[in-house]
Amino acid sequence: MSPAIESEEHKALRSAVAALGKRYGRDYITRTVAEGRHPTELWAEAGKLGYLGVNLPEAHGGGGGGITELAIVLEELGAAGCPLLMLVVSPAICGTVIARFGTEEQKRTWLPGLADGTRTMAFGITEPDAGSNSHRITTTARRDGADWLLTGRKVFISGVDIADAVLIVGRTEDARTGRLKPCLFIVPPDAEGFQRRPIDMELNAAEKQFELVLDDVRLPADALVGDEDAGLLQLFAGLNPERIMTAAFAIGMGRHALGRAVEYARERTVWKTPIGAHQAIAHPLAQAHIDLELARLMTQKAAHLYDAGDDMGAGEAANMAKYAAAEACVKAVDQAVHTLGGNGLTREFGLASLITAARVARIAPVSREMILNYVSHQSLGLPKSY
Ligand SMILES: Cc1cc2nc3c(=O)[nH]c(=O)nc-3n(C[C@H](O)[C@H](O)[C@H](O)COP(=O)(O)OP(=O)(O)OC[C@H]3O[C@@H](n4cnc5c(N)ncnc54)[C@H](O)[C@@H]3O)c2cc1C
Repeated sequence: MSPAIESEEHKALRSAVAALGKRYGRDYITRTVAEGRHPTELWAEAGKLGYLGVNLPEAHGGGGGGITELAIVLEELGAAGCPLLMLVVSPAICGTVIARFGTEEQKRTWLPGLADGTRTMAFGITEPDAGSNSHRITTTARRDGADWLLTGRKVFISGVDIADAVLIVGRTEDARTGRLKPCLFIVPPDAEGFQRRPIDMELNAAEKQFELVLDDVRLPADALVGDEDAGLLQLFAGLNPERIMTAAFAIGMGRHALGRAVEYARERTVWKTPIGAHQAIAHPLAQAHIDLELARLMTQKAAHLYDAGDDMGAGEAANMAKYAAAEACVKAVDQAVHTLGGNGLTREFGLASLITAARVARIAPVSREMILNYVSHQSLGLPKSY
């Protein structure tokens, strides 16, 4: 990649993270999942090396970089076969929101741990009765003296079992208009009235998803992150990094699958030449490579705009990057599995389970259709059907 697109520092970060990922590799993740564990060794080592908190402020133990750098970390670990999903949530969403809008006390309490990986935070916005329409969320906080009481339900929340807290998106009632406005709360998972239930997902991943029930969970006043009246702005500050990081996650997974397929296609010979010499095998792999490169370029643009402080511009680019990366990943994985023939479906080669994993990037955190809706309305000015 030309130096104009990526600096020498970024290239050095890429190769250092890639080397770490290679030391662990896909087999490490496969083993930890089989043992029902989390990739704690890789997480801890990446934290110690400063990769997990590369986007967080130096004053609070981070690397002082941006989402550009954190996206490089996630992409390269993914390309090595060991994506760390919690990077999307813990330092990217929660770390960003706390660094930008938290009180000094919240920053001191959370950021150093999120940066070195000794603490993890999950993020909960999705609700069973709201889904893609987050304007419909009903988890509500009401004041009780100086405290808050939080009540509601969440679904598909990743990593609650390993989280020291969950950043929950709720609503408070506007005293003047009576309307509900979004607000963010730091909720400890051992709080009274907080229940979690694992969802039985057909995903071969260490990170589990949970349904949460919050029944009058009592929180101190300082559990509220930032300003009660600027909840939406604060929320969007966290959602753009989430999309950019999901794009990086998808590109990493797509590159991993493509790499395995190319390696196989160079060797496997059933006629005179390796199967990679047949254009029916080679061209779809070449297309997958092009699509992943294009998606990465859009991801770099989105990260660049976000890090430069252009939240609006980053919003459109982050959506487009997430869309492009998810589609490129789904296609790359599909073609990789096909390239291996029967071996594409064996556990030994470990590609078939990526078919389900790749779909996550198409659905979450915002689905393919909701991005197409966004671009139809926001970018093209077309009317809404809903
Ligand atoms: C593995 C995994 C991890 C996740 N982790 C988290 C997490 O940590 N925290 C969290 O808060 N959430 C998390 N989620 C939830 C995720 O963000 C949601 O699944 C996603 O936003 C979609 O919501 P839904 O599942 O309710 O689908 P729905 O909103 O019910 O949508 C179902 C289908 O209808 C389509 N659709 C809906 N509305 C429209 C429309 N207006 N026009 C066209 N099509 C439409 C959608 O595109 C989709 O295909 C996770 C999900 C998964 C699968």
